[in-house]
This record gives sequence, C-alpha cells and structure tokens, in this order.
Amino acid sequence: MTHSKIFIYFFSTSVFFSFFSEKSEKKWGFTAHKLINRTAVFLLPQEMLAFYKQNIQLIEESSVNPDARRYLIEGEAPKHYIDLDLYKEDVNDSIPITWKKAVEKYSVDSLTSFGIVPWHIYSMSFRLTKAFEQNNPELILKYSAEIGHYIADANVPLHTTSNYNGQLTNQYGIHGLWESRLVELFTDDYDLLFEDATYLDNPLKTAWSAVRNANACLDSVLSIEKLITEKIGEDKKFSFEERNNATTKVYSTKFCEAYHNALNNQVERRLRASIKMVADFWFTCWVNAGQPSLNNLSNYKTSEKVVELNKQELLKGKQNPIIKSRKHEIIE
Ligand SMILES: [Zn+2]
Repeated sequence: MTHSKIFIYFFSTSVFFSFFSEKSEKKWGFTAHKLINRTAVFLLPQEMLAFYKQNIQLIEESSVNPDARRYLIEGEAPKHYIDLDLYKEDVNDSIPITWKKAVEKYSVDSLTSFGIVPWHIYSMSFRLTKAFEQNNPELILKYSAEIGHYIADANVPLHTTSNYNGQLTNQYGIHGLWESRLVELFTDDYDLLFEDATYLDNPLKTAWSAVRNANACLDSVLSIEKLITEKIGEDKKFSFEERNNATTKVYSTKFCEAYHNALNNQVERRLRASIKMVADFWFTCWVNAGQPSLNNLSNYKTSEKVVELNKQELLKGKQNPIIKSRKHEIIE
C-alpha cells in the first residue's frame, strides 16, 4: 500500500489538532499513544485494514487505558518500563532475553521490580494471536490497542531507566517534557513515513531491540537537556499556560524549541519506530493465527458497553487512584 505525502500531512495535522483540544488528557503521553495506534492501522495489509479502520476510534482511545490501570491494579506498573541501569551489567549481552532464563538468573521479584515491558509485549502477542484464532472481535481490538500501548512505552528512552523523570540528576519533569510536551508542540511537522507492516520472525527479540534502541538515546535525552538549560537559563526554562481553567507551569516554547532542535529528530524517529512496530506485531499475530479472514468482522462495531467501561476505567484511574505509581507528569 502506498500513501501520498499529502495524505500523511493532512492526516497527521488533523490528528494533532483534535488531540490538542483534549488539554485535560495530558500525559508518550496521551497524544503520542493515540497517534501511534491510529497511524499503525494504515500500515496494515488489505485483509486487515477494513476491520481495523471500522474500529479505529476504539483502537485509538483505548490505547491509553493501560496507563489508567497503573493506578488501579497491583502489578500493572512494571509492564510499562524496564530499568536497564539497575542490572548494573552490560545490558546488551548479560540479560537473558527469555523470561525463563532471566528468572533463573535474577528471580521474579527482581525482574518485577526492575520492570518487565519487553516480556509483557511478548506475552500480549500470544493473547492477541489467540483472539484472532477465536475470531473474537472484542478481544482482538482490546489486545491490539493495549499491545500498542506497551510497544510505544518500550520505545521511550525514559521508560528504560530508574531515572525516569530526571529525579536522580536534578532534571525533574523531563519525562513529560520528552514524551508529552515536545510531541504536542511539534508532531505537526513530523513526517511519519509509512512502511507496510512486515512479519516478525522473533517478536521477543524485536521487543528487546526496541528497549535497547530507546536506551541508547538516553544519554542525549539527559545531557542535551542540561546543555539547553545552561544556554537558555533557568529563568526562561518555564512559563505558565492556562489549562482547564488553571494556571499551569510548563516548559517554555523557547526552551522546547531549542531542546527539540538539538535532539535532531530523535522524538520523531522514536515515534516512527513505535508506529511500525505496533503494525508489525498486529500483522505477525494475525499471520501466526493462520491469517483468518476478518471479512465477517468488518461490520463489527464496538458496543456502547465496552466504550463506557473504557471511559470509566480512565476516569477512575484519574480521580480515584488506589495504587501509588510513578508520577511522570511532575515538573517539580
Ligand atoms: Zn504506559
């Protein structure tokens, strides 16, 4: 499938503006998760496209539900990250990539406390494959949307370190800066080049490559922020904006522009890697399920009940958190 640049431009622009109006849903922040899942749909082959397009709203909107769950369900949080620095070894060859071998070496407790995102992506891929095998549209959509979330998280540099919000290096707030503020300000200019989804021979290895590639960006994420802070000055680093009738402290546009330029398209590259990987996983699960025809599902429409349940979960996670989780949005 080929997509013209003009289409890409209008598509990303309209998505950007519709998300930007949802100022209350800030938190790869809400904007990025939705954009990643939505865009991945268009990389799918014809046999899958109609069904996914028909339900694109759900795929997009429920991409953020796993984050709400971090505040509601014990054991959810570690599925979103992996603190590679806590292994204190050469991460490239010392951590066994299979869960079984990693447990033998480190124990379940240690692995869980360091975060388990690559293994969780792999385990979600089995659930999605099963949903395809069972021809269960509700589960196909649920697992597609959710695996999209975890894949997107795995591609974020600050989801691969215990210094996830710059709290260990006096850079509080950098998490939201990188994955929300920059995306909100600059997605409009991104060229989200489309490549068709391709089959993954080794999905677990792909999940590990994602976290390693993200981790390789970490040095520049942190060191460039320090450099730009020195250049712009602490006093011009932040400004105030009206959000939801409240004055909110934000990174100033001037600071964001300088930081974003210095990162040299890094956010855009991670965004594109996420989109491609999400589409690749959806496609691979469908192939592994025996490429079942989705024609009989192409008229399936998500029930009001499912939409409502998703909304309730988001609301509960925001208003009645019962579990303490990493706060990424805090600036200071
Ligand atoms: Zn997450």
